[in-house]
Formats: sequence, C-alpha cells, structure tokens
Amino acid sequence: AQRRSPARRVVLKLSGEVFGGGRVGVDPDVAQAIARQIALVARTGIQVSAVIGGGNFFRGAELQKRGMDRARADYMGMLGTVMNCLALQDFLEKEGIETRVQSAIHMAQVAEPYIPRRAIRHLEKGRVVIFGAGAGMPYFSTDTVAAQRALEIHADIVLMSKNGVDGVYTADPRTDPTARKLDAVTFGEALRRELRVADAAAFSLCMDNGLPMLVFGAEGEDTIVRALRGEQIGTLITA
Ligand code: UDP
Repeated sequence: AQRRSPARRVVLKLSGEVFGGGRVGVDPDVAQAIARQIALVARTGIQVSAVIGGGNFFRGAELQKRGMDRARADYMGMLGTVMNCLALQDFLEKEGIETRVQSAIHMAQVAEPYIPRRAIRHLEKGRVVIFGAGAGMPYFSTDTVAAQRALEIHADIVLMSKNGVDGVYTADPRTDPTARKLDAVTFGEALRRELRVADAAAFSLCMDNGLPMLVFGAEGEDTIVRALRGEQIGTLITA
C-alpha cells in the first residue's frame, strides 16, 4: 500500500462502540486485541496517544431524547470514556507498555489531570498516553477532542478509526451503490461535496490548522497497526 510520510507522534481516536464489541460495557477480548496492536507500534518508537469515546456506555444526546438534562447526561458520557481508558491501560500494561491516563475531569485516584506538556514528556519517554473524559465539557464529542489534543501536543496526524465504514466515500455506501471510496481528499473538497466524515467541529479544527486526518475502518486484525505505522489505508484528508 501507499505510504504517508512516517508520523512521529499520533493521536488515535477509538470509538466507544469498538470497546463494547457492539454491546454495553467493555469487551475484554476486543480491548486486548486493540492493546496488542497499539503495543506493537509503540515498541517501534512511534509516539502513540489515544482518545477514547464512550458511546458503549452513554451518549448525552441519546439520554437527552429520553428526558435527561443534556449537560448532566454529557457528564455521564464523559465518565464512560474513562472506564474505556482504564481497560485500554490495563491491557497495554499487560503487553509491557508503560501508560498514563490523563483525564479532563479530575479523578486523582485513577488518572492524572490533563496537562499537555506532561503528556508530551510521557510520549517522549515512550509511554502511551490515553486521554479520558473528553474535553471535560458538555456539548463536545470525543472526535473534536481528538483533533484538539493532536493540535495541542503537536501530533503529526489524527487517526480516526471508524466502525462499519473503512474510509470516506463519494456518497453513503450503505444506500448508494455507486458510492466510491476516496484514497485522498482535501478538507475543502469534502466540505463542498458534503461528504460526512468526522464530526463537524473536529473537521473544522483540522482544516483550519492544517492537521491531516486519516479516516479508516477499525475492523480487521491489523488495521490499527497499519494506520499507526503510516500505511495509507482508508482516506487521507489534508488541507
Ligand atoms: N462528551 C462530552 N464532552 C466531550 C466528550 C464527550 O459531553 O468533550 C459526552 C457526550 O455525551 C458523548 C459521550 O460523552 O455523547 C461519549 O462520547 P462520544 O459520543 O464522542 O463517544 P464515541 O461515539 O466516540 O464512542
């Protein structure tokens, strides 16, 4: 496969859906398989950090539809992400990889606070840094946080793993048989053609700041390894 220039420091976005293996909670087999892939790459010297979603526990917007206050429901969503972080941390450490979880909501017993300069130091020492609790703010998504963290820690690229789709298509592949997968696209073209890629706020952060985004499918035994190593699977979006 085609190669991007090798990334030195990356942010990998993993959705909560991945961690739950399609159900509520964490599927340890899935978490272990993801940890193994990340460990393989971290050992080669690529600085890996991860932002994890919480959709396998709660999504604020869904609880709001069921009558909950949106902000409170969003905090529940954020707390869910931390459970996923701890699961990934556990399986990474079982692989012999040093890790730190940094949470945007203070919870001193289980995670460090989010301190960007400290995150960079951890990465330089070869530790995998796992960012939890999103931005610590309701009305945000972990996609957006992945882009924000990538910018703040000077990552070279944000790697958006997706479930059920392996890149950006010219139309919705589930409904349009003529849909074609794009290997590469610019943010501007994706916007013009109304290609729904990541959440809009994440997308505009990347576009405005020239941060490349790779959208790829998480399914498969080694897709995360390949994306982390700089193989151009999925769709590369650039400014
Ligand atoms: N969330 C939030 N602020 C953030 C990140 C997440 O309020 O900065 C909440 C929001 O309710 C969201 C939930 O946490 O629905 C889980 O995150 P997300 O939906 O991004 O997870 P994913 O879909 O990637 O599993």
